[in-house]
Amino acid sequence: MDQIKTGKFIAEMRKEQNLTQRQLADLLSISDKTVSKWECGKGMPDVSLMLPLCEILHITVNDLLTGKRVFENEYQNKAEENMMNLLKENSENKKKTALSVICGFITIIAVISLIIIASLIDMPTAARVAIIILAIITGISGIAVTVLLDIEGGYYECPYCKSLFVPTVGEYVKGYHTLTKRRLTCHKCGKTGMCRRRIVRK
Ligand SMILES: [Zn+2]
Repeated sequence: MDQIKTGKFIAEMRKEQNLTQRQLADLLSISDKTVSKWECGKGMPDVSLMLPLCEILHITVNDLLTGKRVFENEYQNKAEENMMNLLKENSENKKKTALSVICGFITIIAVISLIIIASLIDMPTAARVAIIILAIITGISGIAVTVLLDIEGGYYECPYCKSLFVPTVGEYVKGYHTLTKRRLTCHKCGKTGMCRRRIVRK
């Protein structure tokens, strides 16, 4: 709390309301010397006077104590918070996309190993069938996890309206795709086209 800053602020706000020190003092039923003292930074308004004073000056107690209007600051904090969330989301998306690649890779290796084991090693037929079934289950669940991570880890950008959207699993699986683009229907404008994959949102 900076008394001098608060004092200057009180004077500034008082003038904005076209009030003299005397008029402000009268409104608060105090002496104009007290108002003068505040404005020179030689004392703070009594707690019981803060609310009525703020009401007269059209400011908040927070403004009074800070010595300036705080809403601009709040706006900035909000903007920073939004920026932080975006950065966090982007880094999470990068992680999910990397995990998706790793998961896909592990699935392929696991399935191939199981098939090699089932075909090369001598074992009873029942065991061979069991291993092939295990390979199929591993393959399906591995692909499912890979796809989910890939969907969650980014957006697709509509080539027409440039809006970003996350496709549903159904849309994702059905869509013809290249490495960087996928044929999808935009959630915003409804047009279908080759949408580019975006990991981060700008
Ligand atoms: Zn669109």
